[in-house]
Amino acid sequence: SNAPVNVTVTGAAGQIGYALLFRIASGQLLGADTPVKLRLLEIPQGVKAAEGTAMELDDCAFPLLQGIDIFDDPNKAFEGANVGLLVGARPRGPGMERGDLLEANGGIFKPQGEAINAGAADDIRILAVGNPANTNALIAQNHAPDVPAERFTAMTRLDHNRALTQLAKKLNVSINDIKKLTIWGNHSATQYPDIFNAEVGGKNAAQAVNDQTWLEDDFIPTVAKRGAAIIEARGASSAASAANAAIDHVYDWVNGTPEGDWTSAAIPSDGSYGVPEGLISSFPAVSKNGKWEIVQGLEIGEFSRGRIDASVKELSEERDTVRKLGLV
Ligand code: NDP
Repeated sequence: SNAPVNVTVTGAAGQIGYALLFRIASGQLLGADTPVKLRLLEIPQGVKAAEGTAMELDDCAFPLLQGIDIFDDPNKAFEGANVGLLVGARPRGPGMERGDLLEANGGIFKPQGEAINAGAADDIRILAVGNPANTNALIAQNHAPDVPAERFTAMTRLDHNRALTQLAKKLNVSINDIKKLTIWGNHSATQYPDIFNAEVGGKNAAQAVNDQTWLEDDFIPTVAKRGAAIIEARGASSAASAANAAIDHVYDWVNGTPEGDWTSAAIPSDGSYGVPEGLISSFPAVSKNGKWEIVQGLEIGEFSRGRIDASVKELSEERDTVRKLGLV
């Protein structure tokens, strides 16, 4: 039947990797008819743990899993890759400046971009999860000149899903009643979850909420700071929900978004909504025929404009920093 799809996962032995790999192998990334081969990339110290995870994957006897290979060399890991989930990244250490963080990640995402350029399959699709995800995706993209730029994306789907739940709770409705929510900008504390174009049961969500104080002082910060709240409660960062969002992003990219709704994805800007061309920024997005498209023609009020501009400014500054470092 179908040919297996090669899925490369970096940082495979980490927390998110552990929550992600079993779901990929069970068919949730691409669909129940698509066999997969996993290609796991780790740094040398992570290889042994990745081998342990591979043993557990074997022990699940997943019918769709046709192979697992483990690498510490990106050039090998991305050979023939159809999907690349870039999870491994340099975490923010104490006292680390943003520039240091971007530089450390440049050392990871530049060689990965080169490896993708050299060896990935023609239909390669990349999702950056490791932070700072948008700019890490930009770095990899810049080192893969032969790959269409639109194939490099970053994850804001977790922010989107978090916003869906917060809004559903506020309005006491089901997640299924909410459509057309948007996360704009950077996957960072400046991200802007926008309910002004969202619908609840077919009506405008902002009007249904009718509470600007809740929006500004509760909803937006709760969504933007959810990661820190989870670390505080769990004693470890979110992992299963991040893995879940990565699955959602790629599934929708490959299989298409449902009619009458959109989602949020950080994709290369074409200049829409005043976002400088080339920045990998979160937009309202639909996937059609295997390609992301930015939803056009939304009305952006003054409040939204200010929030979007602030997050996009941060992305522009990150791009300036990695330019100065010679990474893009
Ligand atoms: P996690 O698996 O928990 O997180 C991995 C990355 O995902 C981090 O950059 C993290 O950012 C990011 N992330 C994005 N969204 C979220 C979210 N909602 N919640 C939590 N994290 C999020 O990290 P681990 O330390 O457990 O594992 C990382 C693995 O990557 C290690 O095994 C390491 O060896 C490996 N690694 C591999 C590399 C490679 O393959 N070349 C390079 C570097 C590391 P944040 O730090 O901001 O939380």
